[in-house]
Amino acid sequence: MLERGEVANSWRSERWESLRLLTPNWLSRLPGHGYDGPDPDGYMTMGEVVELIDRYAAVSRAPVRAGTNVASVRSAGGGYALATSNGPIHCRTLVVASGACNVPTVPPFAGAVPASVAQFTPFDYRDPSTVPEGGVLVVGASATGVQLAAELRRAGRPVTLSVGEHVRMPRTYRGRDVLWWLDASGAWDQRYDEVDDLTRARRLPSPQLVGTPERSTLDLNALTALGVELVGRWAAVRDGVALFSGGLRNVFALADLKLQRLLGTFDEWAREAGRDSEVDPPERFEPTHVPASAPLQLDLRSGRIRSVVWATGYRPDYGWLDVPVVDAKGRLRHDGGVVDSPGMYALGLPVLRRRKSTFIHGAEDDARDLVDHLAGYLGV
Ligand SMILES: Cc1cc2nc3c(=O)[nH]c(=O)nc-3n(C[C@H](O)[C@H](O)[C@H](O)COP(=O)(O)OP(=O)(O)OC[C@H]3O[C@@H](n4cnc5c(N)ncnc54)[C@H](O)[C@@H]3O)c2cc1C
Repeated sequence: MLERGEVANSWRSERWESLRLLTPNWLSRLPGHGYDGPDPDGYMTMGEVVELIDRYAAVSRAPVRAGTNVASVRSAGGGYALATSNGPIHCRTLVVASGACNVPTVPPFAGAVPASVAQFTPFDYRDPSTVPEGGVLVVGASATGVQLAAELRRAGRPVTLSVGEHVRMPRTYRGRDVLWWLDASGAWDQRYDEVDDLTRARRLPSPQLVGTPERSTLDLNALTALGVELVGRWAAVRDGVALFSGGLRNVFALADLKLQRLLGTFDEWAREAGRDSEVDPPERFEPTHVPASAPLQLDLRSGRIRSVVWATGYRPDYGWLDVPVVDAKGRLRHDGGVVDSPGMYALGLPVLRRRKSTFIHGAEDDARDLVDHLAGYLGV
């Protein structure tokens, strides 16, 4: 196992200070290594995640070569030749487990934002004190965006949140963590070859969730109550002016509708599986409040906005992979983790083999399937 940094590198170096997992402790499990502490319903801090993965690496005796950056991989001699910072390596099979979130995604018009406005991505944002005083425009209303908008607003900043397509979720439903429902009902185990529109499923934004000791919901209504101003999707910059899409009403209605449908499937599952008595009665949530007027543009030269925080997603970085397996959009070509090159496999990508594939607990089932395939390939 080659790791350019240390074990749990992404959790050590690429996250902001206040982040906690959005998956509860009982769910954030690794193979044979579940949570046995005093707070199964809590959410780990980054320090605790690093400890978990460190401990797992030790007990599983993972043969990690830390501080080994893979600079290039090419096909050679019926396998792969790697150039690493610790010398060359040849292997017959290769598992690409380099992560789905190596680089923050930022739209091209970021380059047209006036120089007087500071720009941050989740990789260089640490806490509100590192952001210049004054108004902040947070772009993107998925897990990262809603969390950073709330944190900056609570620190007293005027915050505007630019909202595009998003996945609304309550923290708890009928008395249980909403992720309990996804896990228990089997929704998360849905296989990639059973998903209707796989390309879309793989591009779905993360749910609007935060892990806090209070188990609070962080949807757009909660942000509005905190005083965050909502605007539409940021579409362009023209002469220093940010232009936002209209139609927030439709964007909110769609997210509300999808939430209703999801809760409906949970209710149906509980009824059919005879689990109704274990949980509270069905609940429904208020629709997302549409602001009386949402500005369609903001002059970035006016001084009202001093910083932009791009919470517009993440992507993998395959710049080191010199094998033609990456498509024009930068995505690895694979079928359920079996990459389009003999003996090459992938793990940890969205809906790789199951809906849960990019979550910590999702690795186990995918790894088992792929190890079977890999062993067959090697003829062992
Ligand atoms: C902000 C954020 C919050 C998240 N919250 C949760 C959560 O609450 N619960 C949850 O289950 N999941 C969460 N996830 C998803 C999480 O990333 C995955 O669950 C998990 O980290 C995936 O592990 P991984 O090993 O596949 O990828 P990573 O953790 O990204 O690990 C990949 C490793 O590969 C190394 N690497 C990359 N390229 C090279 C190279 N060329 N040479 C050598 N080494 C290399 C990196 O240094 C890194 O350590 C979150 C993700 C993000 C971005």
